[in-house]
Amino acid sequence: MYFIGKFKNIGENMTDYNKLAELLFPDIDKTPDYYEELYPQRNLKEGARVTRLAPSPTGFLHFGNLFTGTVAYKTAKATDGIFFVRVEDTDQKRKIDGAVEVMLQGLAAYDVTPDEGVMIDGTQKGEYGPYYQSQRKEIYQTYAKSLVEQGFAYPCFCSAEELENIRTQQENEDIKGYYGKYAKCRDLSFEEIKANIEKGKTWTLRLKSPGDINKKCYFDDMIRGKIEMPENVIDVVLLKTDGIPTYHFAHAIDDHLMRTTHVTRGDEWIASVPLHLQLFRVLGFKPVKYAHVAPIMKTEGEGKRKLSKRKDPEAAVTYYKQEGFPSSSVNEYMMTIMNSNFEDWRRVNKDADINAFPFNLKKMSVSGALFDMVKLTDVSKNVISVMTADEVFAQSYEWAKEFNTQLADLYEQDKTYATAVLNIDRGNKKPRKDIAKWSDIPDYISYMYDETFEENYELTGNATPELAVRILKLYKDIVDINDDKDTWFSKIKSICEPVGCTPNVKEFKQNPDAFKGHVGDVSTIIRVALTGRTNTPDLYAITALLGADRVQSRIEKAIKHYEEVK
Ligand code: GLU
Repeated sequence: MYFIGKFKNIGENMTDYNKLAELLFPDIDKTPDYYEELYPQRNLKEGARVTRLAPSPTGFLHFGNLFTGTVAYKTAKATDGIFFVRVEDTDQKRKIDGAVEVMLQGLAAYDVTPDEGVMIDGTQKGEYGPYYQSQRKEIYQTYAKSLVEQGFAYPCFCSAEELENIRTQQENEDIKGYYGKYAKCRDLSFEEIKANIEKGKTWTLRLKSPGDINKKCYFDDMIRGKIEMPENVIDVVLLKTDGIPTYHFAHAIDDHLMRTTHVTRGDEWIASVPLHLQLFRVLGFKPVKYAHVAPIMKTEGEGKRKLSKRKDPEAAVTYYKQEGFPSSSVNEYMMTIMNSNFEDWRRVNKDADINAFPFNLKKMSVSGALFDMVKLTDVSKNVISVMTADEVFAQSYEWAKEFNTQLADLYEQDKTYATAVLNIDRGNKKPRKDIAKWSDIPDYISYMYDETFEENYELTGNATPELAVRILKLYKDIVDINDDKDTWFSKIKSICEPVGCTPNVKEFKQNPDAFKGHVGDVSTIIRVALTGRTNTPDLYAITALLGADRVQSRIEKAIKHYEEVK
């Protein structure tokens, strides 16, 4: 046990404390020593960190949960440590069946998988369990009993109404809560307590805070650096009337017994650190290290605000799956906003596995990482641009089966064809970046299927309907999908002169009045006829894949159209 001698309560009224502990917890027959032995120090290599994610099972996985979970996961992995999941399900009223699995599967899709604790199927693994707080009541009560024995906790019989009164009286005071003269039950005698209990009055268990209003508490947050705050003086509730612990109490016991070394959690808890450190002290625990993760922010107008479950669809992790952002893109993006040096590292380690990046808590933003959809889109385009066609096909097919059955049906007509379509321009030195998410694919490949091809004969540049008719008629007769690329292109060039264009763009620029257009206009006319677009990947590959029949029929249709409008 640590520091315990510092507190004056020890020895003050030992017999009464022991009697009180017995009165409050008659069924508890274990002592903290029992659990200390049951959950020994972990045998890990020097410097290995033990981290955890402690979700409350609401079923909704916020991007912030994934972010914080990733921070915990990376912290453990970067040190060959252990990452575990503990489910904070003490609030049975809010319990939703299957919520844990939903959340853990959501995390697992982004590689946040526990070594220990609650696994994605809801089962538990590891020597430090149970990992559901709802199954740890006896453990909490054992420590509660021990605090009562030492004079660090007492029962409080104040009603909701009485507590409300205190709040009203304190409206204009700096320190709010149950302390000092407001802590009416703090000094009840054993007899008074006994009488209350015999009357059947319900009670909560409160910390008898040893804090000093004039003293400061110091700690070193792994992300925010040195922090100084007033000591905690509030006699917070440790156990609610049903004997279930509050977050504060449960966190201290669980993280101690599960031998957590680094608590990474949302920075809404930072104000509670003085209390938590005090709890560690009275419980005789070595304090954990804290890393408080700032919430994900979003720009709004001139300012910034938190990414909001209510306002922002992208606050839900399911959003990325539905839209078809590959998890590798989301992970890559998350790392860019998680560690300020990640992008520099990526520039020199283009092909390296993301797990090779030396993640560092100290490189995290204190003010909150900024969520930026444009940046995510760019990152994702890069990630997808270097995937093989087989990967793109496999992942987008999985996505399509769930979210776009029309695309899945198209793929199923001919998977080799679909993969070849996705392979166009892939593997080039400078790969195209047309796809940011799988839901971009139906539009991207639409002209490669008759079912989804949309005719659109609008022309750009020097192309006119008259020119289009002449060019397409010539092209129709000479196009051969078995040609190699050079032959195909020389055929396109050969069409130029007969229709008054030049194969040489430079020549056209020098003397535009002498020509009707140049080879680029000729290609545009063919491209529009075949795809309905003026900008596509490699037209040669598209032509070859579309096949002779489709090429002929699309050209014929285009000729008909331009003949009608010219
Ligand atoms: N259940 C708490 C929450 O969801 C966990 C906080 C922590 O990580 O300690 O906010």
